[in-house]
Amino acid sequence: PNLRLDLIRKILAILEHNPYAQVFKSLGVVPNLDEYRISLNTDIKLDQRRYNAPTTSQVAAIWVEGSDPQKTFDRSVIVYGKGERPLYIRAYYGCYDPLSYPLFFPRGEIGWNRLMPYIGAADDTNQDLVDDTGLVDTVIAGESRGDRIGKRIVLPRTFPGGDRDMQRRFLDAMAIVQRWGKPDYFVTMTCNPYWEEITIELLLGQLPQDRPDLVARVYRAKQRSMMDLLIKGKHFGEVAAYVHVTEFQKRGLPHEHILLIMKAKSKLRTPDDYDRVISAEIPDKNKYPVLHDLVVKHMLHGPCGALKKSCPCMIDGQCRFHYPRDFCDATLQGKDSYPIYRRRDDGVRVRIRGADLDNRWVVPYNPFLLMTYNCHINVEACSSIKA
Ligand SMILES: [Zn+2]
Repeated sequence: PNLRLDLIRKILAILEHNPYAQVFKSLGVVPNLDEYRISLNTDIKLDQRRYNAPTTSQVAAIWVEGSDPQKTFDRSVIVYGKGERPLYIRAYYGCYDPLSYPLFFPRGEIGWNRLMPYIGAADDTNQDLVDDTGLVDTVIAGESRGDRIGKRIVLPRTFPGGDRDMQRRFLDAMAIVQRWGKPDYFVTMTCNPYWEEITIELLLGQLPQDRPDLVARVYRAKQRSMMDLLIKGKHFGEVAAYVHVTEFQKRGLPHEHILLIMKAKSKLRTPDDYDRVISAEIPDKNKYPVLHDLVVKHMLHGPCGALKKSCPCMIDGQCRFHYPRDFCDATLQGKDSYPIYRRRDDGVRVRIRGADLDNRWVVPYNPFLLMTYNCHINVEACSSIKA
């Protein structure tokens, strides 16, 4: 009874040409609402006022954050669908502003987004902000622990591997994914301390772990060579973007995690595509003797599980890498999981670390990379992973 009809009419008139309002309104005349879906285009490159063609049902309600006093400052628009999880439209998507403040953006104009040019702020403003943050850290530490005042050291972001450096790199990586889409390949390369380049340089009686200087240098050279092969050499095709991180195990052995985002034409699409680049089987010993030995040496997991319960990978009685996997006659595409690679029950077994291991224990690999670098290199197609 308290609605002011003149005001409602005015708002309706203002929003008459708002594309979001039009779509929402049109739901009232959709006959099969259950099979209807609104896809808000959150791709910042495109005109966000256009939508994908409707396919299946999802949207039940659109909820603009702000009515819930507890979450007022989580800046996002939440779309509650019929699926399990709501969809978040973050504050840095261009459609956030017009959805949150429709009267400020009556025609659904694109609001602020990450690709908008940055004008009129000098670099030292950023510097101030970073310094500010450091000060806040110190104040918080001092409030909770008085003895910490004056002792805390905040490493600047220019210190490689420090919290601030890592945080900045993490945000960069997130921005890359936002711009280029999700990664297609997940490659893990681990240093082989018995590479010839390392062993020939060891002095009498030395083991590789006595020479972290040597290990790190040779590893770095190999790692750079592999990055060149993957990116400039287009080993898996054209790379649109990539991120990688070098980590060190407790005894100092370096390893690399690499994510490759491929250009559209180089993406893996079918099980045949997977089979062309990734294998999870022990190769024929007579046909491929060198590759066979390398797989046995570097790419067999375990034994763990029932064969060896004390293996370090075991957590609560389960292998945390899910080995042994099941045999599988043909590669299958995963739904929010890695593909299930072909692991045929071909009778091949190798004796390794006191157990007979078969194809169920093979860590997925790319034959060429394994032959070239003679170390553990796990290659996974990760494009079907949602996270
Ligand atoms: Zn295991």
